[in-house]
Amino acid sequence: MDYKTDVWVDWCPGCGDFGILTGVQRALKELEIPPWRTVIVSGIGCSGKTPHFIYAYGVHTLHGRAIPFATGIKMSNPDLTVIVDGGDGDLLGIGAGHFVALGRRNLDITVLIHDNQVYGLTKGQASPTLPAGVQTKSLPKPNLQDPVNPIALAITSGYTFVARAFAMDIEHLTSIIKRAINHKGAAVVDILQPCVTYNNIYTTQWYRKRVYKLEDEPGWDPVVRNPSERPMKIAKAIEKAWEWGDRVPVGVFYEDKTKDTILDRIQNYIPTYKEKPPAKQEISVGGKPVVDSETFKEIFKSYIIRVRK
Ligand code: SF4
Repeated sequence: MDYKTDVWVDWCPGCGDFGILTGVQRALKELEIPPWRTVIVSGIGCSGKTPHFIYAYGVHTLHGRAIPFATGIKMSNPDLTVIVDGGDGDLLGIGAGHFVALGRRNLDITVLIHDNQVYGLTKGQASPTLPAGVQTKSLPKPNLQDPVNPIALAITSGYTFVARAFAMDIEHLTSIIKRAINHKGAAVVDILQPCVTYNNIYTTQWYRKRVYKLEDEPGWDPVVRNPSERPMKIAKAIEKAWEWGDRVPVGVFYEDKTKDTILDRIQNYIPTYKEKPPAKQEISVGGKPVVDSETFKEIFKSYIIRVRK
């Protein structure tokens, strides 16, 4: 099983998307996650085609809306491995609110950002991660806006696994994706990838000269093993997140193994939730609805009373 489909991969030759596709396929294979337990969810953009190329369940959704779809899938059936593949424009532009909300929920989903600093599918406009003052060949003038920092945004939103990788170092990328999938909680990997057609600044050669691995730094330890370590590890990770220029760090910036997920919190309200999530409930027998909606009604009632007061 190599998780490949027979759909023709129509990205431009040399695009970093190929590296990311290979990284996901290898990670799934090495982790031995069956295709029928895997769901790849994408939005719109060149990265949006990814679910078509991976032998697993897949949903190619709307612009900026991959995370809400993925959230519904995971909450309905927590046994599934759910991976979001989205571009930097899709996830950090129109989908930025959903990106933040996933961190707040610390829901066990892996988000892979195909970060090429441009909107490749629509001819290379500046995306939210392109630094101000940079003029790619697709822009008439240098970019006027400051960039979003995906690492800093993810950490401050509540993601409990935050990493960066380079699409053309497939071995390292695969190892990071595997760690992200295995992490219990919201995980994000910001994957630096060349767009050979529209971004002539941040090329494969540009990255190869600058990228270095955090794990090779003496003393680098991004893992929170006790909640009291959080402020210090967050501060160190965010400081590293802004390093960009002669040296560009990749690897794990932050990993918190101590925080509960929203599924744990739902379980506190609904003791049968993990054993019988919505996807595993019978919805009717003999044409009669049998869903136990009483617990949900009780929860919603408490909210309604608070609003009325
Ligand atoms: Fe890749 Fe850019 Fe081509 Fe899209 S336009 S497939 S991101 S090289």
